Amino acid sequence: MRIGIDLGGTKIELVALSTAGEIVFQRRVDTPKDDYNAVIDAISQLVETASDALHFPSSQPLGIGTPGAISLKTGLMMNCNSTCLNGRALQEDLARRTTRPVRIANDADCFTLSESCDGHATNESVVFGVILGTGVGGGIVVNKSLLQGVNAITGEWGHIALPSDRLDGFKLNRGRTCFCGKADCVETWLAGPSFQHSFQQLARAKSVVGETKAQRIPTSPAEIVEAARSGNEIAAECLEQYCNLLALALSSVINVLDPGVIVFGGGMSNVDEIYQRVPNYLSRYIFADTVNTRFVKARYGDSSGVRGAAWLWPDH
Ligand SMILES: [Zn+2]
Repeated sequence: MRIGIDLGGTKIELVALSTAGEIVFQRRVDTPKDDYNAVIDAISQLVETASDALHFPSSQPLGIGTPGAISLKTGLMMNCNSTCLNGRALQEDLARRTTRPVRIANDADCFTLSESCDGHATNESVVFGVILGTGVGGGIVVNKSLLQGVNAITGEWGHIALPSDRLDGFKLNRGRTCFCGKADCVETWLAGPSFQHSFQQLARAKSVVGETKAQRIPTSPAEIVEAARSGNEIAAECLEQYCNLLALALSSVINVLDPGVIVFGGGMSNVDEIYQRVPNYLSRYIFADTVNTRFVKARYGDSSGVRGAAWLWPDH
């Protein structure tokens, strides 16, 4: 059996996977807000509940996936969007509290590991996993092992600056500020909220906002995609541009890593147009005469993160 825990900004989820990869136990609780000790309490309580139900041994290890990483310099958490975790010895504190071995990895890394081990990327030796959600993350798995670099930032393509000046007919204002302090990071263009932002900017430029009160202006990413499919020209242009930008952003990954498959997760991964259009745009940007890279949607969707956390202990 393998135990995975997904520590997110709003929910903490624990799953137990059987050796065949079936979920045999699953439990979710709300993430306590801004209270590190309460987070430790909540995770410990979840583990106890699972242990009571499944009678796993005291040596049973735990895998934790969370947005963030362990700093190789300090051994403490960094880059966490649940900021109460930053600067904390989460791995040691959880190991001490639960008296079990604990491994922690970035949530995008866990996502990629899950899809590589028993998801939609099992047939390739080099896999790039992409999360296009409220943020943009990535992970690299080679021969079913997570690649972990010397700076603990492998796969963090979301914070590479996107050279949008390479796009023909680009109409949006550049200079979007990212939470990381830099400008025009991939995340500021390709996260779900960034897609919405682009649509609003295009609509404003065409003086649509405020003038069509009788017609509902789409707001969520899903509504914008639906509007594009129904013939809304601005939404269609926004979606086309999103696919073009995504191809541009992925071209640098492909030029360096050349993965056999790129597996997509997060809310924007449900946009089917991505899988048709991005490969076409890629031929403009990559340094090759063919695009053999496969583009697939995650097999386990939102569950891939927690499943991948369980896979942090592959031999268990
Ligand atoms: Zn950034």
